Amino acid sequence: MKIAVLPGDGIGPEILAEAVKVLNALDGLDFDLQQAPVGGAAYDQTGDPLPTSTLELARKSDAILFGAVGDWKYDTLPREQRPEQAILGLRRELGLFANLRPAMLYPELAGASSLRPEVVAGLDILILRELTGDIYFGKPRGVRELEGGERQGYDTMTYTETEIRRVAELGFDLARKRGKKLCSVDKANVLETSQFWRDIVTDMGKRYPDVALSHMYVDNCAMQLVRNPKQFDVIVTGNLFGDILSDEASMLTGSIGMLPSASLDANGKGLYEPIHGSAPDIARKNLANPLATILSAAMMLRYTFDRPEAADKIEAAVRKVLQQGYRTPDIHEPETRKVGTVEMGDAVVAALKR
Ligand code: NAD
Repeated sequence: MKIAVLPGDGIGPEILAEAVKVLNALDGLDFDLQQAPVGGAAYDQTGDPLPTSTLELARKSDAILFGAVGDWKYDTLPREQRPEQAILGLRRELGLFANLRPAMLYPELAGASSLRPEVVAGLDILILRELTGDIYFGKPRGVRELEGGERQGYDTMTYTETEIRRVAELGFDLARKRGKKLCSVDKANVLETSQFWRDIVTDMGKRYPDVALSHMYVDNCAMQLVRNPKQFDVIVTGNLFGDILSDEASMLTGSIGMLPSASLDANGKGLYEPIHGSAPDIARKNLANPLATILSAAMMLRYTFDRPEAADKIEAAVRKVLQQGYRTPDIHEPETRKVGTVEMGDAVVAALKR
């Protein structure tokens, strides 16, 4: 199991160190972990946020465990040299077309959500966002001058049948391994691209009689996510709608430090990272919550290495430490035990060993 470890900036190195500690504590699994600089750290060393050597390591690895990139001190650099370009470059170069974002709320943390605990306690949904197509990449795009001199900005929404089929297929497969419900989200009442998407997904649904397929307009989905989020199991949607809905869903849980993500290619290779950024405000203070990164490592075992039992073990250990009352400052509440990044990692390792 060859894993590229890319810590990045800010809290990236701290949280990734805890995830590596947890992986190394798993019995009977042999990891080949190789580290490389990325983001601002790589820019400082080489002048490039995604050096060729880092990209090569990522290419020849089975999976990439990624911390976070970015710092305010790079904000004045030209766009192509900014740390955030590294993540976009990795997605593009490695063909990572599917973004999986689980939004789970452990019952112990139900108080952290801005929604009523009974609406979100026990929430466990998965948003699957297509990552390399749609209006973000469609051409033509730009600003043009119309007759009469009025200027107009424009973009193009496109999806090929192949792009829709490959993400929808993953959606059906994921639903099969979970609650067997797939909700495809579009705007078919207004957009041709969405009607095409819906027709193809509907057709594919016939091959998955064991998965309950439904369709929902994106505006309704945005509303349902805050009204009754537990009605969903897997949501599959395009790049633009997924961008917005996945952020909305992550906020249902109220704790950004708890949420992992995966970006997969067509062969199951993946980049695994917490959904949060590099949090420069708390870097190097032993304050960061490492659980999102630890849970990202669990996703890696599940989706790239097909080791669901090892993934289950890590997830159970995280649940255990929350039950025991361990909390980093971002999720701390009265009556719980406030701990730092390293102590939280240690607690997960201890729970694994038990
Ligand atoms: P952020 O996610 O880094 O931080 C937002 C807030 O959440 C901060 O108050 C931070 O302290 C807190 N937070 C984040 N992760 C936490 C954790 N694990 N434990 C405890 N608290 C945590 O977002 P931001 O402040 O808008 O961005 C900071 C930098 O991160 C920027 O340079 C941005 O471009 C970058 N960024 C990178 C990624 C990525 O690497 N994929 C994603 C988002 C933002």
